[in-house]
Amino acid sequence: MPRRSIGATGMSAGIIGLGTEHLDNKPFSTVDEVIGTALDQGINMMDLFMPGETVRTNIGKALAGKRDQVLIQGHIGSTDINEQYDRSRDLGTCKKYFENLLRCLHTDYIDFGMLFFIDSEEDFKQTFEGDLLKYAQDLKKAGTIRAIGASSHNPITAHRAVETGALDLLMFSINPAFDMAPRSVNVLNQLNEAGNPFGYEKNLDPDRAALYRLCEQRGIGITVMKTLGAGKLLSREHTPFSRPLTVGQCIHYALTRPAVVSTLIGCASGAQVHEALTYLDMDDTERDYSSIVEQYQGSFKGNCVYCNHCLPCPQEINIADMNKYLDIAALDKSFSPQAIPPSIAQHYKALNAHGSDCVACGSCEERCPFSVPVIKNMERAAEIFGF
Ligand code: SF4
Ligand code: SF4
Repeated sequence: MPRRSIGATGMSAGIIGLGTEHLDNKPFSTVDEVIGTALDQGINMMDLFMPGETVRTNIGKALAGKRDQVLIQGHIGSTDINEQYDRSRDLGTCKKYFENLLRCLHTDYIDFGMLFFIDSEEDFKQTFEGDLLKYAQDLKKAGTIRAIGASSHNPITAHRAVETGALDLLMFSINPAFDMAPRSVNVLNQLNEAGNPFGYEKNLDPDRAALYRLCEQRGIGITVMKTLGAGKLLSREHTPFSRPLTVGQCIHYALTRPAVVSTLIGCASGAQVHEALTYLDMDDTERDYSSIVEQYQGSFKGNCVYCNHCLPCPQEINIADMNKYLDIAALDKSFSPQAIPPSIAQHYKALNAHGSDCVACGSCEERCPFSVPVIKNMERAAEIFGF
């Protein structure tokens, strides 16, 4: 399982991780099968947001003797008061549920203490300007959590959260439908309406694109939820595109966004774990999502979506990564080498080939479905990064 490092935390996550929401209300045998299969297959990243004691206890039992094989995202603020999933911003309640998580898992640490569901202005204020951030920071100082993260579905609020500098990790909902839907659309609700067209504005949401780039720039890893759009993107009946995407295309789309370290796939059986992992054996053609998103070519024209459909390059340039780093460097309009974040300069340097290696053969531009001016971008990259 290829791993990606998570900023400055010293931890690294496999590119495919496990979402555990489908283990809620399942018998221990199912929980044990899913967790056992995931760990045996090299999955080392797991999200656990559910507040229910039964599922937490079952997961704790399944992890007996294996705790050190997995990084766990545990949430601060996820509760089931009144027997319904809810979020709380009350310090006492959050502490109670977080301590319960440690007890149920029979562990004395959680790898990522995730500030839960930071979607609205109110969520942000109550969490970052109230007691909860301080609580997370105290947990980190005490070694009870190793790093602080947050989960969000809103790119603007998530952007603010990342800008506080308090986070090491962001859990965010990413898939092509979410990235392209107009702001006014509740995508998940809409996906439930079979045959109801989205009426996309045919645009990549600039707030979402800016969030991914900010995370990359700051060295904040992103773990992805809703990679498959709750399975709806795979369904002929519900997909908002002209045809359903495959699991491989959805995973590849998420993994090719800037800053993404791991896609967390919710699995309800060992077979589903294996199905998600087939991504690792897929070739580029099977992973390629460009034919689906190119329906929106009009607005993507000239903008790289990091799909690598343009490869191979005779100079072995990783064109998607080159464009990604160039886009991040371009966040600072001065384009001065001094303004490039050191981490991005290092990533660029670590590439096998650089902008200056481009021989302007043009084969990539012929293959790019989005009319990206790759040769010009290579020249700009060489100029900005210096080679
Ligand atoms: S240049 Fe075009 S084909 Fe290549 S990664 Fe970017 S969008 Fe995809
Ligand atoms: S134009 Fe440059 S980047 Fe594109 S395939 Fe040719 S050498 Fe590679």
